[in-house]
Amino acid sequence: MTTYYINVRQYVHRCPAEPNRHHVIQRQQTIVATTPGGPCLKPISVQGQEFPCGRIAVYENQCAACKTQVVVNHVDTIDLGFQGAAELVAAAYQDTLFEAHQ
Ligand SMILES: [Zn+2]
Ligand SMILES: [Zn+2]
Repeated sequence: MTTYYINVRQYVHRCPAEPNRHHVIQRQQTIVATTPGGPCLKPISVQGQEFPCGRIAVYENQCAACKTQVVVNHVDTIDLGFQGAAELVAAAYQDTLFEAHQ
């Protein structure tokens, strides 16, 4: 079982559409550590070549070594404060906050 530990950075704000603090879509995930699962326990042979089952089989059929899991190590929540139309237009030049809502 390969384990990926990730840090998540998420953003919240308030805006005219929803005065209560809420999540915006923008979200960053960073892998901070990996624990390798080790060699495949049931490699699959394709045209005479062996591949780890994790590269070919669907998740349910993968061996214990190939399966992966993601563990959230840390979550940062950043409050962008109130963002009305003017703030969102300004932020769109920097990143993708403009698409914050759907
Ligand atoms: Zn909003
Ligand atoms: Zn495997």
